[in-house]
Amino acid sequence: MIHSNINKFKFEIEKIHSDFFYEMGVDVLIARLDKINNIVSGNKIFKLNNFIEDAIKNKKNTIVTKGGYYSNHLVATAFYTKQNNLNSVGIIRGEKPKLLSLTLKECIEHGMNLQFVSREDYDNHFFLNSFINSSFENYEFIPEGGFESRGAEGASLIMDQINLLDPSHVITAIGTATTLAGLIKNNGNNIEIIGIPVLKGLFDIENRIKYLLKSNSFVPPTIFHDYHFGGYAKFDNVLIQKMNEFYLLHKIPTDFVYT
Ligand SMILES: *Cc1c(COP(=O)(O)O)cnc(C)c1O
Repeated sequence: MIHSNINKFKFEIEKIHSDFFYEMGVDVLIARLDKINNIVSGNKIFKLNNFIEDAIKNKKNTIVTKGGYYSNHLVATAFYTKQNNLNSVGIIRGEKPKLLSLTLKECIEHGMNLQFVSREDYDNHFFLNSFINSSFENYEFIPEGGFESRGAEGASLIMDQINLLDPSHVITAIGTATTLAGLIKNNGNNIEIIGIPVLKGLFDIENRIKYLLKSNSFVPPTIFHDYHFGGYAKFDNVLIQKMNEFYLLHKIPTDFVYT
């Protein structure tokens, strides 16, 4: 069931004023989910929403999740968990580094209990599950990136506001495809959904959507595979220059990983 959360995480949708788009005869708008919160990107909060609601409903006091040294999902979870008065644990892939990444420092600032696990143990699902089970009590587990049907369901709430504008196309970047699946799930009016993977060779997107939506019947999204600039978080000077130009013209910040 989809319940409207328009008031819970209201975001602005801004029109881009550009001669180029004007000449092409298209209106281009940006959903400013980045402005929902200045710590974490807004779609991360949407993806967490249903897990947190479940935890509260089921009287869990702790959220356990996992990720790498640079995982934005971890920061978002630490932040949003604290905001909801729950404890958070982050299982980190790799030994504790001498110098913590900014990401991990932020997690600690938001009260997250970090548990470092060797890469080998982390990748061993059997080991990791029993480690989590035996170490923590009364917790809700959130997969990396919220990659589960509840994550997609949370992301689907993004469309509540977008559907009101009845656009012809909606474009999103793809990491785990959880956000994309949410957009597909709550597509109000035959909107063409376009996804752009930030990873090289992410060719299992339709299977991911099937898993996330627990369904085989959905309109497949259009995928543009050639805009990862060499792989996850890779960039070149041209991209950085375009981002700077875009910022100067429109005062909208972008990031080289996703947007
Ligand atoms: C994290 C992120 C994504 C990718 O989300 P997934 O649900 O993992 O595919 C896309 N866009 C932005 C701006 C993000 O921060």
